[in-house]
Amino acid sequence: MHVEKPLIYDLSWTELENWLSAQGEPKFRTQQIWVGLYQNLIADFGEFTTLPRTLRNKLVASFDIFAVTPIKTIYSEDRQATKTLFKLGDGCLIETVLMLYEDRRTACISTQSGCGLGCVFCATGQMGLSRNLSSGEIVAQVLFFARELAKNRDRITNVVFMGMGEPFHNYDHVMKAVNLINDPRGFGLGARRITISTAGIVPKIKAFAEEDLQVNLAISLHTVDTNLRSQLMPINLKHPVAKVLNACKYYVERTHRRVTFEYALIEGVNDSVDDAHALAEQIKGLLCHVNLIPLNPTRKFNQRGSQADKVRTFADVLESRQIPCTIRLRRGIEIGAGCGQLAAEA
Ligand code: SAH
Ligand code: SF4
Repeated sequence: MHVEKPLIYDLSWTELENWLSAQGEPKFRTQQIWVGLYQNLIADFGEFTTLPRTLRNKLVASFDIFAVTPIKTIYSEDRQATKTLFKLGDGCLIETVLMLYEDRRTACISTQSGCGLGCVFCATGQMGLSRNLSSGEIVAQVLFFARELAKNRDRITNVVFMGMGEPFHNYDHVMKAVNLINDPRGFGLGARRITISTAGIVPKIKAFAEEDLQVNLAISLHTVDTNLRSQLMPINLKHPVAKVLNACKYYVERTHRRVTFEYALIEGVNDSVDDAHALAEQIKGLLCHVNLIPLNPTRKFNQRGSQADKVRTFADVLESRQIPCTIRLRRGIEIGAGCGQLAAEA
């Protein structure tokens, strides 16, 4: 079954306003619907009891509101991470993760079903690309978890675009979703609480710098050795690491915002003291932060994550060279909810 009606979440404020005015509805209805969808988290047009029945019927006839259908949810042993498999309107599958920290509830959402970039260490890359998600399908993942949390009077505090897919290969839909999640008239999540992670699509890093948003940018670096990076991340052939780093410099100069580098440590591959020095050499002087994470296991990649002492030594080298870094907590590995483990196997 393919969805013919557009998703209500695909509409921007202005698009909704225009649709309403074409229906002869007063302007204030936009605000009413927006509050219903993004603050009261209404998931069924029937619940819009503040709207006249005629308008409710028009909404039902014109738009779809069931964007993502949960198929299966699994919890990590400590119940701090949940992974949910969703089916989209056309049957495509995505996975989304909710992580609970002491003071944070972070939704890690998908921007594509699968991914076409083929990073060898990533389960999503190993499955290939099905299609881009619409902005509404991206937003709907956030709303799903917001509704779950609301049952315990809790709310989402952070959204990271680090689930399935390459956000900058679906740039327009991702930006529209960011604006919607951020919109103070609706969901109202602060831009600083939103992070987009990219494998390094150079022209889009530049475009993103020019958006004048406070949204955080993370770059999946993993090595500064261009030959090794091409082996691990084929996108490096098109956008070599040197150009990615130049685009990051442009981003920092233009936005005065810090860029985050993601670095998955792979035993014996990119985790030596020399590798740490090479990294420091390339990014010194840049306003940045490095997140170190031992590689998570995936089915089709035969390498292991670095041992804890190697990770510590790597961090020590970076710190000795005044590069700020954090060793990231691993979450939900046993349920395949860790970075790079999302594969949507139904
Ligand atoms: N496509 C985007 C965002 C999704 S991937 C990107 O690549 O940045 C989210 C993060 O998980 C990226 O930093 C990615 O490099 C990392 N990752 C992928 N596979 C991993 C693995 N097996 N172990 C640890 N991190 C991994
Ligand atoms: Fe795609 Fe990111 Fe996975 Fe690479 S790491 S295959 S870009 S999702």
